[in-house]
Amino acid sequence: MEFALFCTRVNFLVFLLALSSPCKFIQSPMDFGPLKLLQATNSASLDFGRLYSNTPSAVLRPQSPEEISLLLSLLSASSFSKVTVAAKGAGHSINGQAQALNGIVIEMDSLPSSIKIHTSVDGEFGLSFADVSGGTLWVELLTETLKFGLTPRSWTDYLYLSIGGTLSNGGISGQTFKYGPQISNVIQLDVVTGSGELVTCSPSKSSDLFFAVLGGLGQFGIITSARILLQEAPHKVKWVRAFYDDFEDFIKDQELLVVSMRDKVDYVEGFIVLNEGSLHSSSLAFPASLSSIAPQLFPQGSTSHKHYYCLEFAIYDHSHKEAINLDQVVDEISRKMKFKPSLVHSVEVAYFDFLNRVNVEEVNLRRRNLWDVAHPWLNMFVPKTGISKFRDLMLQTISASPTFEGPILLYPILKDKWNSRTSAVLPDSEENVVYIVGMLRSANPSTCSQQCLEFLLHQNREIVKTATHPEMGIAGKQYLPHYTQEEQWRAHFGGKWQRFMARKSDFDPLNILSPGQAIFKRKY
Ligand code: FAD
Repeated sequence: MEFALFCTRVNFLVFLLALSSPCKFIQSPMDFGPLKLLQATNSASLDFGRLYSNTPSAVLRPQSPEEISLLLSLLSASSFSKVTVAAKGAGHSINGQAQALNGIVIEMDSLPSSIKIHTSVDGEFGLSFADVSGGTLWVELLTETLKFGLTPRSWTDYLYLSIGGTLSNGGISGQTFKYGPQISNVIQLDVVTGSGELVTCSPSKSSDLFFAVLGGLGQFGIITSARILLQEAPHKVKWVRAFYDDFEDFIKDQELLVVSMRDKVDYVEGFIVLNEGSLHSSSLAFPASLSSIAPQLFPQGSTSHKHYYCLEFAIYDHSHKEAINLDQVVDEISRKMKFKPSLVHSVEVAYFDFLNRVNVEEVNLRRRNLWDVAHPWLNMFVPKTGISKFRDLMLQTISASPTFEGPILLYPILKDKWNSRTSAVLPDSEENVVYIVGMLRSANPSTCSQQCLEFLLHQNREIVKTATHPEMGIAGKQYLPHYTQEEQWRAHFGGKWQRFMARKSDFDPLNILSPGQAIFKRKY
């Protein structure tokens, strides 16, 4: 063995022994040859949820995938250590998923940002794609691809999330019905497994690892680079919002768009308008006046507690190819829909601004000190047959809440756009149409005390319990799942549990990776 590597191993063993002592935290940076471990910082034990705060013993800010590989090989080789490792992308998890209590957090943003664009001329099989490092944010990738007139096809609503973080879950938004989730739009990955092996994998090469990692909750390897499919970017976007008071009409129209009109429409989402306040806050990023709509939904002086549903769709303009009249397309589509003509409005926006719309809300919330607050979020996939029942359950449950701040998203996706070989979990139902429902609540500390926050979390648990109970006729599955017990994970994965466990023992046999997901316990 090379002498330098030998010294690294010896020093690292001493470090691991120190971690086993009562004093678990490193006090100053520690050098192990090419590996430099840093003191744990506050940010390594925080996430967007602000519900969990698990402090690691140390932080690694790698300069290369090889450093990650060295760390994991050293940990795998030391049979007495119980140290775990969590990759942290943008830290936008809700329940401590990127944290590692007394372990090591790898901050993926320190990998040198690398985005290499391959246009269809030089790309494989005439495809355009980008090779991008795992800690890069989607907004950085978009900014770079637009310089080439290109764009990734599938998105999340918010762009300040890391490539590795969303690919470990799914990555869904209003384009998912058309192109599938982000995990259906990646064709190659560079991964460091739990044993420290650096592997390039794809659907045709080390495919087991490739599909395990996609939607794999960080359990099988750390994504250091991903090859993302690109397509031509539109110049502008026609963005339409239509309001409904009838839930059945609302979902029928959503399904019409994603099933029968999927060639014409590029984006479909929707949300519940609980009251006039939620109408105004949901309209921050939508640059149209509400003056004609708001009085129709919430007449002055009315004390009704009626709520509404807003269907959102968008059409992209690629007019550098052939001129299309966006208004004409919208008219043609709208004629087949059920909303009242007085309850629709539309705007034309630049493509980047459309994709970056949640950032407008972020800026507003940050200004009001309401961004860095607790977020008791709940996301569920619900098959079409269970969606009305789930809506009733959700509305009935939240009617007991003192406040509701934040949006409730509800829109359909199509199961056949997901690859069942990935680790992602969807409802078992036969139906192709599945709804994603996001109850994205914020706990404003000035109106929601710790007790109130506990109550909201309790409500979420009750909703999950009912919606996943085999006899309740909803058949939901959590997206971005949060469970703490093995039997809950077993039920969540259902028929995929055996495969998930087998993959774990193949790629991370000592259960080192992503302890914050609380699926597996670290082995010696
Ligand atoms: P982190 O929180 O850093 O990590 C999440 C998990 O992935 C952890 O287990 C971590 O260990 C693991 N991980 C991180 N990086 C890597 C890597 N390189 N390799 C392997 N494992 C890794 N999701 C959607 O699908 N659609 C949305 O529209 C959407 N909108 C959102 C809006 C906001 C404001 C927020 C806060 C979240 C939203 N999410 C959405 C959820 C988001 O996709 C997930 O929380 C995602 O994990 C966040 O990415 P991250 O980089 O912050 O991951």
